[in-house]
Amino acid sequence: MSPLFSCAGCGVQIERSLRHYLQQKGRVLCSTCLDRQEAERQQAELKQAELTQAEVRQPERGEPPQPETAGEGAPQNGGRP
Ligand SMILES: [Zn+2]
Repeated sequence: MSPLFSCAGCGVQIERSLRHYLQQKGRVLCSTCLDRQEAERQQAELKQAELTQAEVRQPERGEPPQPETAGEGAPQNGGRP
């Protein structure tokens, strides 16, 4: 019979083999906490991937390049001959 350990996440008593306990270096988790941990890890990886993609992606070209207007209107000569 496997010994009982308390889950490192929620403290529930779980039956795990001593080998597993040693593999996890004394930090055993129940299946619920394992699932949650896995989900959190996947979420973090997803977020990380999104961040990386956002960094790689070129900035959106929303505004078209505007030609510089050389001077406002034509130079006025006052209509003098
Ligand atoms: Zn747990």
